[in-house]
Amino acid sequence: MISTEEALKRLREGNKRFISDSSTFNNTLSHKSRCHSLTENQDPFAIILGCSDSRVPAEIVFDQSLGDLFGIRVAGNIVAPSQIGSVEYAVERFGTRLVVVMGHSKCGAIQATLEELRCPSANQSKNLRSIVDRILPSLTSLDIDQAPEILLQQAVRANIHSSVSQLQHGSIILEQLVKEGELLILGAEYSLNTGIVDFFDKLT
Ligand SMILES: [Zn+2]
Repeated sequence: MISTEEALKRLREGNKRFISDSSTFNNTLSHKSRCHSLTENQDPFAIILGCSDSRVPAEIVFDQSLGDLFGIRVAGNIVAPSQIGSVEYAVERFGTRLVVVMGHSKCGAIQATLEELRCPSANQSKNLRSIVDRILPSLTSLDIDQAPEILLQQAVRANIHSSVSQLQHGSIILEQLVKEGELLILGAEYSLNTGIVDFFDKLT
């Protein structure tokens, strides 16, 4: 089993390779050989709850291969029961010890929620509404009259913190593991401009 420290180190090093254009991700021979070795089992070292945005695929921005990351992607990296269940499954089944909630700059789902906060729409689809409703509570304390770019930055971060908290406290299983030091749930933000993933809490 890979420790939280080692898992975080792998993600940081992978992101460094990604931003320095030295990714190993496109080594298709490696993918093929890994594909064969993973037919019976998997042993992902980290769980990534990220946004569906096409510009933020976890395997690429962390330069990882098949079987490395247990990925959950949903617009706005929100936490609904199915996301909690997915994390519980990976933690219990594979013993994965690190969960990263990765939001990103200029997130469309957060932007849509801010627009809804300013000017509620009457005809929004109830499915899209269910995403906005998960994001909305974390944004209500923000000053919506400030500069739009700053507001969006703050909103992205507030939503990541909220998702971390909901994962941590929305599940007795996860909460217990975090308490025992067996699981770390960490927020992170990916920058569309730089490709850098900024982890919110640093391990020493
Ligand atoms: Zn997004």
